[in-house]
Amino acid sequence: NISFEGKVALVTGAASGLGLAAAKAFAESGASVALADWNENAARAAADELNARGHKAIGIRCNVADDAEVEAMVSRTVETFGRLDAAYNNAGVQNVLAETADTTREDYDRVMGVNLQGVWSCMKFELQHMRKQASGAIVNCSSLGGLVGGAERGIYHAAKHGIHGFTKSAALEYGTRGIRVNAICPGLIWTPMVDQMVTDGQGDALKAMEKSIPMGRVGRPEEIANAVLWLCSDAASYVTGQSISVDGGFVMR
Ligand code: NAD
Repeated sequence: NISFEGKVALVTGAASGLGLAAAKAFAESGASVALADWNENAARAAADELNARGHKAIGIRCNVADDAEVEAMVSRTVETFGRLDAAYNNAGVQNVLAETADTTREDYDRVMGVNLQGVWSCMKFELQHMRKQASGAIVNCSSLGGLVGGAERGIYHAAKHGIHGFTKSAALEYGTRGIRVNAICPGLIWTPMVDQMVTDGQGDALKAMEKSIPMGRVGRPEEIANAVLWLCSDAASYVTGQSISVDGGFVMR
């Protein structure tokens, strides 16, 4: 069993889906947890629920596409809990489905701003604290979409591909300074983001996708959380600069 007793974890996009599952898992493993999300009420409600169960948590409003808010999020975490041991940069949004010729600058800026610039910004301010401590572990949330192409999803896939560049570069920079940086590539995991895809009329495409998953089923948020915790823990003390797929075997097809 992985223990984060006495340690501090920060999760972005922590009000829903994969972020919420990871925040709960960190708390249940003994960490003090900062739950950051641009949905402030939901982040606070999730933190309140963890505190009511005897864990230590705070909810923070943060739009990861805004550097000043990201800097404040990291400062508030360190001021509240004294340090920062693990960060899961998870916040992400989907692009509007459109073939490349029909994509808009507005959607490009929105999706890149959250999914790629947001990861860069979070890493920048997290690393400023972690290098002072000379310890820490970061996990960035890429995607199966960060490893393969996706028709009508070019902006999302490009952002998720870009995350590997930041992950590997920071892993090189901080390897001798006690800091590890990895990425996770979830396959199809049932979360409100996927519910939204069903609402948007992609239900049939998702069913077809599910049939082609080698393990024959969609994943659960807890299965991503388990991998995030492992990557942030001492059990993964010699793992850095990696992009780990947790996808029921999907990417090898
Ligand atoms: P979700 O929509 O359930 O949750 C995303 C959370 O991020 C929400 O709480 C939302 O409010 C928050 N968020 C969005 N933009 C934000 C911003 N600018 N600043 C702060 N918070 C913001 O989605 P999810 O499925 O849990 O996705 C989490 C991550 O996992 C995303 O990066 C997504 O791309 C990635 N992912 C998901 C799947 C999947 O199948 N669910 C697969 C691969 C990758």
